Amino acid sequence: MRYIIIFLFIYHSISVYAQKVSISLFNDSNLKSAIFSIYSGEYKLFTGNDKSISIKKNDLVTVSDKSGRISVSVNSIPKGNFDRLDFRETDSTGCMKIKPVFPSLEPRRYKGEFKISLLGNKLLIVNVADIDEYIAGVVESEGGEKSAMEYYKTQAIICRTYALAHFDRHLNEGFQLCDGIHCQVYLGMSFFRPEIKEATKITSGLVIVDQDNKLVTAAFHSNCGGYTVNSEDVWSLPKPYLVSVCDSFCLKSPHAVWDKTITVRKWISYLRDNGFRNTETLKPCQLCFNQPRRKQYYSIGNDSVPLKKIRNDWELRSTFFSITNTDSTLVFKGRGYGHGAGLCQEGAMVMAEKGKSYVDIISFYYTNVKIIKH
Ligand SMILES: [Zn+2]
Ligand SMILES: [Zn+2]
Repeated sequence: MRYIIIFLFIYHSISVYAQKVSISLFNDSNLKSAIFSIYSGEYKLFTGNDKSISIKKNDLVTVSDKSGRISVSVNSIPKGNFDRLDFRETDSTGCMKIKPVFPSLEPRRYKGEFKISLLGNKLLIVNVADIDEYIAGVVESEGGEKSAMEYYKTQAIICRTYALAHFDRHLNEGFQLCDGIHCQVYLGMSFFRPEIKEATKITSGLVIVDQDNKLVTAAFHSNCGGYTVNSEDVWSLPKPYLVSVCDSFCLKSPHAVWDKTITVRKWISYLRDNGFRNTETLKPCQLCFNQPRRKQYYSIGNDSVPLKKIRNDWELRSTFFSITNTDSTLVFKGRGYGHGAGLCQEGAMVMAEKGKSYVDIISFYYTNVKIIKH
């Protein structure tokens, strides 16, 4: 009973204070050292016990792991070693540029506050940001190609739904979401497309829920090739809102088709490794495969291999392919790019250009869902 009450309390707290989100930056890099510099606004660097170091606009603040503590220097002048650091803004206009030094990575700009500690012997940089700043940053990182406003609104609602559904994913590590593909890619604040910020603001708080008012798994991919897939064909688990739909919007988009050539010899060896029998007697034409609508398996006689496995093993763009042959080679003619479940980004862009609203687009790709204010 006590656990239920604690859970409800945490859930309630998250709902009420959902305006902020904490994200681990450069989470997939084993970060040892980084340089912080103020890009805009004003910041103070708190080092514990309410002590702070004042920093000015062009100061370079180097933060490094040093034998289990965090060393700080400002413009190469050492300021001491600390257990935790906290960059706090003095107003809400702050934006910080962070340049990882070890390993050396491209600098990124983020808004909000930054809490720095050591996790093992890597630097943990947690950005505490306004959720809509985060969403706009994710939309720009995940699908920021030039598009119509209704597409950006759609993508903002999807990214918000995904973030809120996974809010407790990293709580035991001291933050809510990471900035990698494990959660959602977040390469910085939205900087290049003001429409994205506007779309995020207009749709602020909106999320997609199923018939039981539960946040949906808002899956999306680049291009479905003409048919999206059922959830169970990708992740084993069926979801009533992730069911295959016929999509004619994406058929002329950049990732609509692909092809790849594999030698007959290599393909037969692959089939043998996957338990196919009598492979030495197979003729090239018997290796051909026709997939006008999405299938789950590639089969010859009673032997089969899941298309999902073929896609992974051969790093194909999708599982939606047919195979034709010449004497010594097989030509894989594929459609679409990505896992194929949920929203097809290139189809959604075309729908938006044709004047469909974000409600039309979301209801087209997710079956029987509702859009509500969280
Ligand atoms: Zn994550
Ligand atoms: Zn599509």
